[in-house]
Amino acid sequence: MTTVSPREEELYGVGVSPGIIQGEVHLVGRRHQEVPRYRISPNEVEAEVERFQRALEEAREEHSRFLRRLSPVLRREHLGILDVHHLLLGDEMLIQAAVKHVRQDRWNAEWALQMAVDRFKGVFEAMGHEYLRERQGDLHQVSEHLLSHLLGTARSGSPLAQRPMVLVAHELTPAELLDLHQGPLLGFVTDLGGKTSHTAILAGALDIPAVVGLREITQRVRTGDAILLDGETGRVVLHPLKETIRESESSRRRYIQHQEALQRLRTLACVTLDGMRCALRANVELAGEVAAVQACGAEGVGLYRTEYLFLNRPDLPGEEEHFQAYRRLAESVLPHPAVIRTFDLRGDIFPASLGLPHEHNPALGLRAIRLSLEQKDLFLPQLRGILRASAFGKLQLMYPLISGVEEVRRANALLDEVREGLRAEGVDFDEKLPVGVMIETPSAAILADVLAQGVDFFSIGTNDLSQYTLALDRENEKVSSFYEPFHPAVLRLIRSVIAQAEKAGIQVALCGEMAADPLQALVLIGLGLRDLSMTPRSIPRVKQILRSISLVQAEEMAQKALGLATADELRALRASVREDLAPQFPD
Ligand code: PEP
Ligand code: MG
Repeated sequence: MTTVSPREEELYGVGVSPGIIQGEVHLVGRRHQEVPRYRISPNEVEAEVERFQRALEEAREEHSRFLRRLSPVLRREHLGILDVHHLLLGDEMLIQAAVKHVRQDRWNAEWALQMAVDRFKGVFEAMGHEYLRERQGDLHQVSEHLLSHLLGTARSGSPLAQRPMVLVAHELTPAELLDLHQGPLLGFVTDLGGKTSHTAILAGALDIPAVVGLREITQRVRTGDAILLDGETGRVVLHPLKETIRESESSRRRYIQHQEALQRLRTLACVTLDGMRCALRANVELAGEVAAVQACGAEGVGLYRTEYLFLNRPDLPGEEEHFQAYRRLAESVLPHPAVIRTFDLRGDIFPASLGLPHEHNPALGLRAIRLSLEQKDLFLPQLRGILRASAFGKLQLMYPLISGVEEVRRANALLDEVREGLRAEGVDFDEKLPVGVMIETPSAAILADVLAQGVDFFSIGTNDLSQYTLALDRENEKVSSFYEPFHPAVLRLIRSVIAQAEKAGIQVALCGEMAADPLQALVLIGLGLRDLSMTPRSIPRVKQILRSISLVQAEEMAQKALGLATADELRALRASVREDLAPQFPD
């Protein structure tokens, strides 16, 4: 039997979590399985027939196991349906028809199966008998099942549970990623997704190399294929040659050396050549990240995304759990502060136990502060937990997705009620707990002068601010090339928010992913920011860049960026700065 080695293929997606890895693909559940269609050469025919027979065998075995397990619990009519499926999986006419399409027409096994199934469906339909017409549905299910074994997407007996794999999926939610993280997951790539999606952010937090937005990677690979991915550059290589693997190994070593070199900066202050001091803080999603916060030399936590407390569980966190989580965080980052953002929950990303109804446009829907104000049974225990924890460290409280003063007033009224209650109970809390808002909607940015009158600080959330200002879905890979937080419209909004905060004499920080990009961090410092919060891993490299330039240089860059009009001009500016600062950047 001759086997033909597949050709090496290079693809580019959006690198969202750095790290270079190489391994075997584990393909999981396409939402709708597309049937690949291609001709095979004469010398591949027997191997293809064998592949078909093997998938058939696996599907039959799986079906028998399923039947044995379910027999004691299923009603008779359901067992009857499963029996029909069993018969169809053994139907010689169907099998022979598929094999014939492989042998005679030289179609790949998946397409051959599809052709055979289509013919059978036509025959059932033509018989006009209701019972037989209904069997078309069974035939469809059976062929989908068989197809999942051919494509290697069958979920049962997942090899992921046994050995390290690179997961390839159409889409992955944060909840699914957390689940998979329990197993030996080397990294993942997906068809969908953008740089600032929550799955991407979580991948960074969990240190899982990942590339998203590859559009149709699930159509090009099968379970067991070799794959290489670079989560920094977004490069993915299918069926990599030995030479490519060797090269990637040396890039990986260089990357690790660079990371180690950066670690030496851990204890140094973040100060520009001309003495301007900046605070670099960490964004945190999971309690387990506290160690990473300390390891990267962050000056505390600039954003704790508390909605992750609600993920992957059948129940809801109560006051005590909120309190314990925030107290642990507050104590572990002392003498630095930790900013607790009240939950930014939304039905599509954090569905679990909330039972929120489906929304057509969840990014513009009942999420974040709007949901908190509607669902006080969720919000009040969180506020009590934060206030109680404030007695144990330097906490700050922050509301997400504020779009106007009304929401701040309503949230603060609830906070006052909680304060009253705690005082009456004699429970300690920080009477001066700073309360701030995220500036992540254009309306909040435009109203910054008014908002500044009622709060202690701003934190600019550029992930959402860019999404809403540019009208670009941050999760949608089809528009990811247009998503530009460096866009002059976004920069102007940032500049104006900083100016309003300064005028009102309140603190202003920034906690979007933008801060994690060393070049963008330079521009932000040039615009006047002195407090940046980012994924912990990025802190050393941002510190390295800021320590290597002067504030004057950063201000010049910010001025240039503000004056630009097109994406091309932005790219040119990036390239020229990158060249000027080349020694500071890794390959
Ligand atoms: C932001 O929108 O910039 C932000 C930091 O919040 P999140 O990414 O959690 O929406
Ligand atoms: Mg946001």
